[in-house]
Amino acid sequence: MLQINEIFGPTIQGEGKLIGTPSIFIRVGKCNMRCVGFNVEYETPSGIKNFSCDSFHAVDTAFKEQWKVMGKDEILEEVFKLMPKYKVDIVITGGEPLLYWKDAEFQKLLKYFVENGYKVTIETNGSLDIDFKENYQKKILFSMSVKLSNSLEPLKKRINIETLTRILNNTKDSYLKFVVDKEFLNQAIEEINFLLLQIPKTEVYLMPMGDTAKQINENSEAVINMAIEHGFKYCDRLHIRVWDNKRGV
Ligand code: SF4
Repeated sequence: MLQINEIFGPTIQGEGKLIGTPSIFIRVGKCNMRCVGFNVEYETPSGIKNFSCDSFHAVDTAFKEQWKVMGKDEILEEVFKLMPKYKVDIVITGGEPLLYWKDAEFQKLLKYFVENGYKVTIETNGSLDIDFKENYQKKILFSMSVKLSNSLEPLKKRINIETLTRILNNTKDSYLKFVVDKEFLNQAIEEINFLLLQIPKTEVYLMPMGDTAKQINENSEAVINMAIEHGFKYCDRLHIRVWDNKRGV
């Protein structure tokens, strides 16, 4: 069974390779990291102040009461209430979806989507061990937002060369993306280039950090220039430009 934080859409995929594609999002609860370095301050339902990433409501188990335990059929029922007359993409995000990789209901859900012609993207930090035993698993697009030192997570926890290699060798079109700000750019490039030496060749997207359109604007030009200089792709974060960091759109 999966802990589900929210299911919403149809909206557009706001970032990465499939930016702009109509999609329904399934956001799981729970993450194996906290990324306090991203410095997003929030308050738990019991009033405790804390720091994490902008998905804190899907990361911190203090919000668990707001999550719903669901199996494949219940999730599909919610997804189909939202599905327009045509098939939109399915994006599974979090939290960290790969925490559920070994869960039978999660695998049934993935199998259903892939075998029924839905394009599935899993947004992941790429740090957990997974295997590819089934063919449908190889048709999933893994959008891997590998964490750099600015997350303040320990290196051993955030970089899993074996998993990144396995995903890139078993799937087509999976890629890496990194959210960076102006101040961290040079260090980020150094860390990304070092990582790329250790894994199979893949596409790399750089995206500007920020929780609001204003912050995205402040970072985007420097990130574009850095992407051009190093042969990476720039990718915007459309959902933030249009809706800031509002949930459910
Ligand atoms: S890995 Fe992703 S979801 Fe988890 S805490 Fe870090 S940024 Fe948030």
